[in-house]
Amino acid sequence: MSREVQPDLSGFAFSSNSDSSFSRESSQVSHAASRPPRPQLSSSENIASEPDVVFRRSLKAEHYRLTLRRDGVPLVTIPVRGSEREARRFLEANRDWLHRAQQRQRRRPRAPEVWVPGTHILWRGLMIELRVATTGERAAVCLSADVFRVAQLTIDLRPTLEAHFLRRAKIELPARTWELAATTGVEVKQVCVRNQRSRWGSCTSDGVISLNWRLIQTPDFVRDYIIYHELMHLREMNHSARFWARVEEVCPGWREAEAWIKRNGSLVGL
Ligand SMILES: [Zn+2]
Repeated sequence: MSREVQPDLSGFAFSSNSDSSFSRESSQVSHAASRPPRPQLSSSENIASEPDVVFRRSLKAEHYRLTLRRDGVPLVTIPVRGSEREARRFLEANRDWLHRAQQRQRRRPRAPEVWVPGTHILWRGLMIELRVATTGERAAVCLSADVFRVAQLTIDLRPTLEAHFLRRAKIELPARTWELAATTGVEVKQVCVRNQRSRWGSCTSDGVISLNWRLIQTPDFVRDYIIYHELMHLREMNHSARFWARVEEVCPGWREAEAWIKRNGSLVGL
């Protein structure tokens, strides 16, 4: 039986770095519901929304919770025994936190939506200007020394380039994983490269590691850290102190990698 390991919340992946995660850790604001039960709505039913706030009732939530969604919209989660009125009070009581979270979100670097020659794109850890390749007869663009063929230069090149990135990632990331697996002596059964919007990597207890193709855009030390992280999960399927000790052993620079992810994950949409 295989078990998926979620990226932990101690800064490893999107969870603690993305805007939506402000609720999860130190910045969490919540308090226990104190109201008697009300007629239940289905889980995640949107019971009210105003242009700038969404209220959502959750059957699983035990507390009121305020989060800032990736799209910048505040989300108030109402616990089973909670009320919308109480939720609004909760929101008002936490306006300051929300304001700070919104400021933080605005400061995060974003990748440009449309890619054309001249656009700066995160490539192998650096923001590189996309340029028209001057050699060859067919249309092509380059990022540093990497050349990519495109159908034409006058359209948004992002879909084409991301397809190229994915293809390269499918070659490079498994190769690197096998290399690091060999040096750490961890047995890996399979390496998958996937298009994931919400995590950098995952693994199953039977030795399958999945990696986000966007790791081809990050610096090498970040890519390696994520691979080491998943490899060590094959020894420790949790985020215990023992797990982190193993990570520390094989990848002493993991904290810098975490810090890079926290600062720049938004550049690749994570
Ligand atoms: Zn993990």
